Amino acid sequence: MDADVIVIGGSYSGMAAALQLLRARRQVLIVDAGLRRNRNALHSNGFLTQDGVDPAEIALKARAQLARYPTLQWHDGEAMEARGKFDDFTVTLADGRSFTARRLLFATGVHDELLDVAGLSERWGRSVFHCPYCHGYELDNGALGVIAAGPMSVHQAAFLPEWGTVTLLTDERLQLDADQQAELAARGVRIENEPIAQLEGHADVRLRDGRLLSFAGLFTAPRNRPSTPVAERLGCRLEETPFGVQIATDTQKQTSINGAFACGDSAKVPHSVSLAVADGAWAGAQIHRSLVF
Ligand SMILES: Cc1cc2nc3c(=O)[nH]c(=O)nc-3n(C[C@H](O)[C@H](O)[C@H](O)COP(=O)(O)OP(=O)(O)OC[C@H]3O[C@@H](n4cnc5c(N)ncnc54)[C@H](O)[C@@H]3O)c2cc1C
Repeated sequence: MDADVIVIGGSYSGMAAALQLLRARRQVLIVDAGLRRNRNALHSNGFLTQDGVDPAEIALKARAQLARYPTLQWHDGEAMEARGKFDDFTVTLADGRSFTARRLLFATGVHDELLDVAGLSERWGRSVFHCPYCHGYELDNGALGVIAAGPMSVHQAAFLPEWGTVTLLTDERLQLDADQQAELAARGVRIENEPIAQLEGHADVRLRDGRLLSFAGLFTAPRNRPSTPVAERLGCRLEETPFGVQIATDTQKQTSINGAFACGDSAKVPHSVSLAVADGAWAGAQIHRSLVF
């Protein structure tokens, strides 16, 4: 065996799990493709002691601390396949290398399926966000636009007045019934039904009728799915969440495949760096217990 545990995904949740296992002197092998979900954001907010810090800096500092443990192996690369069973898993990378371990951990994060609105993907994480706890405060109680993705956007728009003056842009994706209109009116949310032509400038919305609406920031609700199909191909069951699809786990973070675990955004809603770290730390301890008993 190359390791006790192979961790696929070396970001916040994967490193938090690895840290527990390394501190129990277990052999841990991390495979990481280096595509953290918040890679477009300049600041990571809301994580105790790291509030406002560059998200890459948090990840680099964690990696440097992990590197001090002699039982860590780190391989940059993409895992393409995981196969095997309890006590005998093999992970194959895109470059053809294969590694074996007794346990597997998927800490692979999620993919954000963004709306097909011109100019949105370039602004994702810079002036278009999904989480007000992460990026709402910095918008300084300004004008906020919500680009509707579906019925969940009504809830998002009704919540956001905590952080500014809100306009819900339905953009032909949402038909509001009388109850929803009343709920939004009670929260002071303005409704704009003219379709969006494109996003411009920092967070400006050009409507098809030519009007330009300027915002301090925009919010939307991307649908999530695991960022890699490797867990699903191994046979891990997936489950629906309010935000999309995730890997199903039990309270010990074990997936439907005995010996294969999952943590962080890929296996727990809601999502944040703090929650991913907590979920990873718990998963690491549970994997350790499964190796002992
Ligand atoms: C735009 C944006 C801004 C955000 N801002 C904040 C914020 O300010 N504060 C906050 O608390 N949260 C923020 N978040 C949420 C935060 O980014 C996530 O909750 C957090 O990154 C989850 O950590 P994770 O370790 O579970 O997954 P990720 O950080 O997404 O890491 C997953 C890792 O797995 C790797 N991986 C995936 N598949 C494979 C494979 N097959 N082989 C090898 N490696 C693989 C990826 O390359 C990546 O390195 C933000 C999210 C977004 C989208």
